[in-house]
Amino acid sequence: MSSILVIGTVAFDSIKTPFAEADQVLGGSATFFAMAARLFTPVQLVAIVGKDFPHHHLQMFEENGIDLKGLVHADGETFRWKGEYEDNMNVRRTLETHLNVLEQFEPDLPAGYRSAEYVFLANINPDLQLKVLDQLEKPRLVCCDTMNLWIIHQRADLEKVFKRVDILIISEEEAHMLTKEHNIIKAARQILKMGGFSLIIKRGGYGAILFTQNSQVFAIPAYPLEDVVDPTGAGDSFAGGFLGYLAARERMDIETVQRAMIYGNIVASFAVEGFSVERLLTLSRESLRNRLGDFLMMTHLAPASVHVE
Ligand code: AMP
Repeated sequence: MSSILVIGTVAFDSIKTPFAEADQVLGGSATFFAMAARLFTPVQLVAIVGKDFPHHHLQMFEENGIDLKGLVHADGETFRWKGEYEDNMNVRRTLETHLNVLEQFEPDLPAGYRSAEYVFLANINPDLQLKVLDQLEKPRLVCCDTMNLWIIHQRADLEKVFKRVDILIISEEEAHMLTKEHNIIKAARQILKMGGFSLIIKRGGYGAILFTQNSQVFAIPAYPLEDVVDPTGAGDSFAGGFLGYLAARERMDIETVQRAMIYGNIVASFAVEGFSVERLLTLSRESLRNRLGDFLMMTHLAPASVHVE
């Protein structure tokens, strides 16, 4: 079992959904990723927080097997993000982004992190993703995510990152922003030309699709949920479950990648059942296993049913 290095944001999120609100709760791309991936394998966290970051959050990370040697404590305030969901919770608006200490972040990996084999470049400035890539000795698998802010303002750096990753995991909205193409298949085809990676496009409550360079496609639905509390972090939790499973199995063949998508999917379905990381924190292996079993039953097609007369 290999550990995973993640660079991304550790944040305070303020969120409004049609049903509830949460103010300045623990969030950030690296937070959700780490709390999901640690269900499968140890995680090394590379991020920056300010003086306002409370000790109990640090303790929570450590108690959950997350190595904080790469977490920088800087003067200033922690990254803050504010978002609002429409009645259709697949649609989100960013209301405020305060980079704060992120603007002074110069990641310098602790010696023990440079040999990381599994790496997740979570959503953060692409120049910081590049700085981390430059310090890695010989990673086996690098996955990457991004967000609208960076697609708009740092496109050139982002395309440099794309050239150096093995799997790109983005949302359908980001795929559209990158290509101006609404059809997901046409968008995927264009994005695949930006590097040598496999591509996973996340479709919120509708599931996820994998596209490979050799034209393989694998699509899964989302786990159907009656009560979604807060979709924030679903994408990062998907990535955490996905890469966590791959690192634990130490395999990357197509069947293992497909299975990893199903694990990512199920972990994400728990993440959205609470604000912040509250549901991930209490998630047991048994609940994970049970929901995985339900999902496999729901999506299973008996061979006879695909027989066309
Ligand atoms: P997701 O819902 O998976 O897209 O992730 C949402 C998380 O990303 C929130 O917890 C935010 O704190 C964090 N976030 C929002 N905007 C950014 C950004 N521009 N860069 C990095 N992280 C961000």
